[in-house]
Amino acid sequence: MKAPVDINSTRPLIIAGPCSAETRGQTLATYTELAATGSVHIVRAGVWKPRTAPGSFEGAGEQALEWLAEGKHATGIPFGVEVANARHAGAALKYGADMVWIGARTTVNPFNVQEIADTVAGSGVKVFVKNPLNPDMELWSGAVERILRAVPRGDVGLIHRGFSQAAAGGYRNPPLWHLAVGMRQRYPDLVMLCDPSHISGSREYVSEVAQKAADLFFDGLIVESHCHPASALSDASQQLTPSDLQAMLERIVWRTPDAADPSYTETLASLRAEIDEIDAEIFGSLGRRMAIADRIGDIKRDNSVTILQEQRWNTIMDNMLSRAGQLGLSPEFIRAILDAIHMESIAHQNKIDNGR
Ligand code: PEP
Ligand code: MN
Repeated sequence: MKAPVDINSTRPLIIAGPCSAETRGQTLATYTELAATGSVHIVRAGVWKPRTAPGSFEGAGEQALEWLAEGKHATGIPFGVEVANARHAGAALKYGADMVWIGARTTVNPFNVQEIADTVAGSGVKVFVKNPLNPDMELWSGAVERILRAVPRGDVGLIHRGFSQAAAGGYRNPPLWHLAVGMRQRYPDLVMLCDPSHISGSREYVSEVAQKAADLFFDGLIVESHCHPASALSDASQQLTPSDLQAMLERIVWRTPDAADPSYTETLASLRAEIDEIDAEIFGSLGRRMAIADRIGDIKRDNSVTILQEQRWNTIMDNMLSRAGQLGLSPEFIRAILDAIHMESIAHQNKIDNGR
């Protein structure tokens, strides 16, 4: 039997549970503790684990669905699992899963997404689609469209779990919030959750990412929580105990959609998130530029050439000034920024000359 959960009006919608259902004891203990928080609407658990490295814990398989069904029976809280193919989806339905989600490694594959869509069609199960590993909105949308052809819109949701790319800001999967903003604009009627656990990769960041999601426009969270995170067989470093989860949820300030002017606050938060990312890009690029300046410094020293080379610098300045109009920047601004960069560059090369 499906437990009732209205994913479209429960706000914030909170899904939580262990990365993996490992044993009956761990699953039931976590399930019961999560139910006791009173803040969790659906319990999540991985039953088949798509692991990057072979030989890692690959999930307890179908027996774990029995444990989850037992947890649901004991607590009345529905559950959801990750499905990567038709066989998984069929088994999840057989054991009464109320929700399934398509993981980041599966969203990238239209064959698997289609067979899942065909299997869950007409079942009434809720289906959440995580973003693909790579930052590609078309791939994410394509998977969503396949599900929407099989499942009523009101049963479909999105999960933003960050993107697998060169780490930025210490996160495991940088959020690239603007892509989530883009998906929100494309599917404004679909419930959208943030997965701060997989974005963070580390317990210490989960709460700040969750707050950011609450500041933006997200409808809720899917968070990894384990009764004993230190001994978790997968993603041990990012899981929270149910009581830490509860404490975090109590601290999060959710914006109310009916604040004075909701579209103003939402747009402002989205734009600021974009600005934060651009700032991080700018300074990342400046760091890389200085590293190259260091290498040039090495060569200049080895060839006993002066650090300051007037002509080269004038070329750089003229080149950028000629693009002022096109960039929408004033010549004064370009000059000020380039002068600051130049000073820093020279300081770097001086350090090299002085043996650092
Ligand atoms: C998970 O939710 O445990 C998981 C494997 O997530 P993702 O697909 O986002 O990597
Ligand atoms: Mn995980």
